[in-house]
Amino acid sequence: MTTVVAIDGPAASGKSTTAKLVAQRLGFVHLDTGAMYRAVTLACLEYQLPAQETPQMAELLASLAIQFKSVGGEEQRTILNGQDVTDRIRSPEVTGQVSRYSALAMIREHLADMQRKMGAELNVVCEGRDIGTRVFPGARFKFYLVADQEVRAKRRYDELRSLGRKASLKRIARELQHRDLEDSTREHSPLRRADDALIVDTTNLTIREQVDLIVARVEAGLRSGD
Ligand code: C5P
Repeated sequence: MTTVVAIDGPAASGKSTTAKLVAQRLGFVHLDTGAMYRAVTLACLEYQLPAQETPQMAELLASLAIQFKSVGGEEQRTILNGQDVTDRIRSPEVTGQVSRYSALAMIREHLADMQRKMGAELNVVCEGRDIGTRVFPGARFKFYLVADQEVRAKRRYDELRSLGRKASLKRIARELQHRDLEDSTREHSPLRRADDALIVDTTNLTIREQVDLIVARVEAGLRSGD
């Protein structure tokens, strides 16, 4: 049996960085499900498919292969049908549209199946919005990351600036608020904490501290066989 560590939470709560480092420390695979929703959104925008459940959408989904590839043991790249789309899935266009596409049951079911297959074969640290509630409700370890909204906006702002991108703090704060609202009020598997998930408030924690906390919980659980 494989072990699943589920990490959910709102946008910019530190999930990706945390999940990546937790996976490295545990020797697990990092499964970034947000990158999968972004990759599908990119494909839909390229094929000019509106956010609607149509036969064309089903056909497109069936034709998409999404893989994660580690480069130099550090950085993980997202590969869509053989093409590296890591940078393109973070564009403002994709970020602005992803919640509309990820609200569709057709897309969610397709990606959740893929995620379950990966989790059945490998030990994974799986991060997203519905991992502890829908994709892996039986996951052995579940965490729900939260942080004050201002802190989240500032983190995203610093991240973009460090990549040399232009950014406005006000705009980022608005965009995060909008995406959280859409993600938590949608009909199909909305963003929600699983009842048995441990809340980790990262507002005043460093990345190192939040990673240590999660790794310690998982290692203690694995040792005790809980
Ligand atoms: O985590 P990230 O910000 O990259 O996620 C992008 C979007 O993908 C989210 O805003 C949400 O709409 C969608 N998503 C989702 N379910 C997941 C992961 C991401 O709906 N498990």
